[in-house]
Amino acid sequence: MTGAPRPSSAAVGAASLDVVVVGSTNADLLVQVAAHPAPGETVLGRSMAVLAGGKGANQAVAAARSGARVAFVGSVGDDEFADAALTGLRANGVDLSGLRVVPGSTGIAIVTVSADGENSIAVIPGANAATDADAVRAQADLLARARVVVVQGEIPRGAVEKAAGLARERLIVNLAPVIALATQVLRQADPLVVNEHEAALAARALGVALPTGASDADVARALLDAGVRSVVVTVGADGAHVAETVDGAPRVMHVRSPRVDAVDTTGAGDAFVGALAQQLAAGTPLPDAAQHAARVGAYAVTSVGAQASYPGPGDELPHV
Ligand code: ATP
Repeated sequence: MTGAPRPSSAAVGAASLDVVVVGSTNADLLVQVAAHPAPGETVLGRSMAVLAGGKGANQAVAAARSGARVAFVGSVGDDEFADAALTGLRANGVDLSGLRVVPGSTGIAIVTVSADGENSIAVIPGANAATDADAVRAQADLLARARVVVVQGEIPRGAVEKAAGLARERLIVNLAPVIALATQVLRQADPLVVNEHEAALAARALGVALPTGASDADVARALLDAGVRSVVVTVGADGAHVAETVDGAPRVMHVRSPRVDAVDTTGAGDAFVGALAQQLAAGTPLPDAAQHAARVGAYAVTSVGAQASYPGPGDELPHV
């Protein structure tokens, strides 16, 4: 039986979204210090700013600033930090019809950035904990319109797994921070995006025994062999390793990142994921999408903050 003709992608396009991000949104309290305090030590901060953050919101903003039509599914509290958490999403035209306001506090991240650009972060989940499976199920129609659904680990496991179940086309799982997920969700990821540390934990979750001294490329390949649809392991200034199956055979590629002077690495990984989602929604092959995302990640480390450091339409990306 042939059934009714499927709508062409052009017809779907009028009502579709490029990217739906299901995730966290926070107010980031950013403190700049010369050097991080040791345990028990007090240091003087140079400045403090309240910025919009949260991995989900960061990725949604990065995708929108890269040119995608983006919707965000998440939650804020009914407190004075909600507006700060939503600033970037609003300013970049992200569809917030899937946002819930719940009683209590908005998610807060206290970010300390040292002069050498390294950050340390304490996160209070607040309203992000209310983005549960039911909250995601309520946005099933929104998710059904997405070419790419993006999830991370700053919302409850049930929400991530529900979003994976509702994704009709492509699912990006950024396992950051690492949370326990059904292995079928990790395998559905296309790609699974992880940094070096997260990659090792993802391998363990999938029962992969890594040989001593396995390289990051080896880990990407091992995750692919464990059944993940495709894998991107980001390695900071060294770029990323991309593992995918091409014509039935595994292929691992190294994507270099441009050399830049790092000022603040906060949100570089999210810039990468958001730009990757935009590229994949536009139909770019994964290695090329990852190469573009690496340039966006490099751009993001050249100025302070997360969303505030992401390139917009007129900004020139550094070259590899
Ligand atoms: P974070 O948690 O700080 O957001 P992450 O560990 O998730 O980062 P990274 O691998 O550090 O992710 O960075 C993501 C991408 O950003 C890298 O693949 C790279 O393209 C770019 N990047 C990060 N740091 C640098 C740097 N110092 N120089 C150039 N590019 C960088």
